[in-house]
Amino acid sequence: MEKALNGIHHITVIAGNPQDNYDFYTQPLGLRMIKKTINFDAPDVYHLYYADEKGTPGTVLTFFPFPNATRGKRGTREISIVSFSVPSASLNYWIDRFAKLAIEFDVSSKKFGYDYITLFDPDGMKIEIVADPNADMIEGWDNGDIPKEHSIRKFFGATFNLNKAAETEKLLSQIMGMSFIKSENNIKRYSSGKDESLCFVDIVENVNGNYAVSSAGSVHHIAWRTANDEEQINWRNKFLQAGYHPTEVVDRNYFHSIYFREPGGILFEIATDQPGFMVDETFESLGTELKLPPWYESKRKTIESGLMLIKTKTSSKK
Ligand code: ZN
Repeated sequence: MEKALNGIHHITVIAGNPQDNYDFYTQPLGLRMIKKTINFDAPDVYHLYYADEKGTPGTVLTFFPFPNATRGKRGTREISIVSFSVPSASLNYWIDRFAKLAIEFDVSSKKFGYDYITLFDPDGMKIEIVADPNADMIEGWDNGDIPKEHSIRKFFGATFNLNKAAETEKLLSQIMGMSFIKSENNIKRYSSGKDESLCFVDIVENVNGNYAVSSAGSVHHIAWRTANDEEQINWRNKFLQAGYHPTEVVDRNYFHSIYFREPGGILFEIATDQPGFMVDETFESLGTELKLPPWYESKRKTIESGLMLIKTKTSSKK
């Protein structure tokens, strides 16, 4: 059988104020900041990584924060919703939690049979928290006041808002090995990965929709998982043969990546599971210090002085 990509590796988003971003993702959502580094292509900008406690691929949401950025505008050629899985019996816990924390949310009617709630992050990115039976088999983890049994387990998926979906769907199904599940209302659902890596891509076609304007609250790209360097090269060749224009392999220190823009306008990345986030920090210290890749270490002082200080739970204890 043709090899398929193994679900989502990470999703990267543009943010505004990094403190607001940190506070929202670590507190109400209870993710762990597992890496504080810089955008390797723009070292004056943070790159903040939030995930489960150990940075498992498929749980990793990352941000490039620009403290004074205006909000992006939703539209086509972008990912319009990022969805997380929580255990099937946990949705009421999350509803109570957001109500107590005075965070606005909506309880929506089922989508493809799943119960879920929607909310927005501080920069206006739309988030869904989905009651997902597939999450029941993934062990929970503790973070702050969120009990193990209710913690976010992984990405449930992402929604693509496109002007023309056909070529994107062809790429997902014929080249990337995703499966069409079914259509509901104006959404076509595809799946990628299996078991713990299972996730969904929802395609919404909006033929006359205006293009999105990318800024704070806009998804920058989505990365798909591949196990190792060898598989990545095979994927790169496959995309080349299919007429796409993937970049050369780029060293992202925690994974190796190639990038290309899919036909609907969304930036795709293929990222390796290896070497992972513990290459420069221990499990206990993940996310506690500004980590720079070796090739930027000599510029640490200049880089640090240009970044806004983020008050983290760990550093406030010092
Ligand atoms: Zn990426």
